[in-house]
Order: sequence, then C-alpha cells, then structure tokens
Amino acid sequence: CDTIAFSSGMAAISAVFEYFRPGDHIICSEDLYGGVVRLAAVVMSKKGCQVDFVDTSDLNALKAAVKENTRAIYVETPSNPMMLVTDIRAVSRIAKEAGALLIVDNTFMTPYFQNPLKLGADVVVHSGTKYLSGHNDTVCGFLCSKEQKLAEYFRLISKTTGATLGPFECWLCMRGLKTLAVRMERHQSNALTIARWLKSQECVEKVYFAGLEDNPGYEKNREQARGYSGMISFTVKSAEQAQNILKHVKLITFAESLGGPESLLTYPAVQTHPDVPVEQREKLGITDKLLRLSVGIEDPGDLIADLKQAMER
Ligand SMILES: *Cc1c(COP(=O)(O)O)cnc(C)c1O
Repeated sequence: CDTIAFSSGMAAISAVFEYFRPGDHIICSEDLYGGVVRLAAVVMSKKGCQVDFVDTSDLNALKAAVKENTRAIYVETPSNPMMLVTDIRAVSRIAKEAGALLIVDNTFMTPYFQNPLKLGADVVVHSGTKYLSGHNDTVCGFLCSKEQKLAEYFRLISKTTGATLGPFECWLCMRGLKTLAVRMERHQSNALTIARWLKSQECVEKVYFAGLEDNPGYEKNREQARGYSGMISFTVKSAEQAQNILKHVKLITFAESLGGPESLLTYPAVQTHPDVPVEQREKLGITDKLLRLSVGIEDPGDLIADLKQAMER
C-alpha cells in the first residue's frame, strides 16, 4: 500500500477525480460530503465526465446505475450526514465486474475502525483535517492505494498541480496520529452514550448513528468494521428548535468540521450541504430539523448537560 499526502481532503479527492477522462461515468453515494457534489458540478461537468448520485447502500439501485462507461464508484460509509452503511465488499464486486475503480472516503472511520483496501477498495481517501490530525488545527488529505500504477499517478498529480502538504502540516498530522487509537475509542464511547441519551429525549425525533442497533446499517457495519466512530446526526421537532439548540449550546461549539477533541454541532442543510439541490436534500433527510454532532473527547456527562440545557431553553 502506498499513501500520498495532499494539502487538503478536497485536494486528495480532486486528484483522484483527475484520473478520469471526458466521457467517463462516475457513480457516487448520494449521501456524502457536500464538497464532492460541488466538485462534480463545477469541475467534472466542465471536463465532460458524467457523475450520478445513487444510494450505494442499496445494491440493486447501484447495479441499475452502472453503465458501459462507468469508470468509478465513489462511496462514503457511514455516509455524511445520514450515516447510511454501504457494503464495501459487495460494491467492490460490482465495480470489478464493471471494470470500474472502487474509491472509499474513510474520513469518518479512520484506519483505526475500517480498512477498505482489505475489503476490496482500489483507492481510499482521507480528509486528514478531521480525526487523523485530530485537533482542529490543520488541513490535510491522503490517498491510499495498493496499486502502484495508481499511486504513481496520484503522486504525479500531487506534484504537478502543487497540491502537496507543507512540512509543518505533516508534523502536526504525525503528532496527532500518535494518539489516534486513544482518541477514537473515546470519541466512540462518548458518541454511544450521547446517541442513547438523545434517543430517550422527547424533543428528538430520530437519531442516526451507526452504533445503534436499530440503525439500518448496524449489522453490515459490524461485519466490515471494528467500530462506528463518533459522528451522530439527529432530528428535532422543528427548524426553530434546531436553531435554538445551535444558539444555546455552550461547551459544544456551533461550527463546521469534525473529528477534533472539541464537540462540534453542525447544521448540514445550511453549512455543509447547501450545494445539494433542495429536492435531493429533502429526499435524503437533510432538512432544517437535522443536526450533526461530532462528538469530542470531553466528559460525556458535561456534553449531555450542555445539550440538555440547550434543549430546555
Ligand atoms: C472534510 C471532509 C472532506 C474534505 O476534506 P478537507 O480536508 O476539508 O478538504 C472530505 N470527505 C469527508 C467525509 C469530510 O468530512
């Protein structure tokens, strides 16, 4: 396996998309990081590549979307922000049959919980800005591949387009990586505690978390990963209530991004997914009642107390 460092997660994703030519067809999970939707609309369309978004957790829908010119399937699992789980092994078989590459964005899980290359992926993408560096203090991205030819291509693109990672950012990321295992365990156990608490709250309608047994992807995720990480989405009863919580959290910060020691609460419809067309957002469940919580490594009791006071305001 070879890994190339980039100046951001988006630079890494751009480099992998650079691999494709005019006329190529790419299938992406329909629930995914908003920046990829923008990349498809702004860059890939101009390049003459066609990008379709489908529910990759539904293998029949995925098979039906494969075309003669499909060159890649791009998957996030669990997905952002609805936490849908895609069967990486099954998708890798579909990709192989189609002669397409399977690319997996493993940002939410990190190598600590999930190893997509071992499950048949050809390329793994990481935004190192999140859990890998882990301190909300740097921006970086990575591409990993076990195919030397692909890795060499990505290295060429990295140096040719100048999307390389600076020495100080490399150092910050390497320092963060030393505590990855301890941090991930704490993010995960805090998240499970909070997800269970949220479920018992009257003002909470639905909790989306890969570690809850009633999540549709729970079993599949258990089979292919060693954990479920620290990302939770949930809906409350109204947009006003969602905005009220965002306004009143104190220990938790209302902000984008994820994967740092500090818990961050995000408003996906406004912050991370505004570039997803509104009908598509509604279909996916990214409504103005949905909040996404990146659970940090603080005391879980303090986090619950903060959510509770914000919900009662
Ligand atoms: C943040 C993120 C990206 C983009 O990474 P940057 O380092 O912010 O450019 C890609 N995928 C996922 C899942 C992310 O959370």
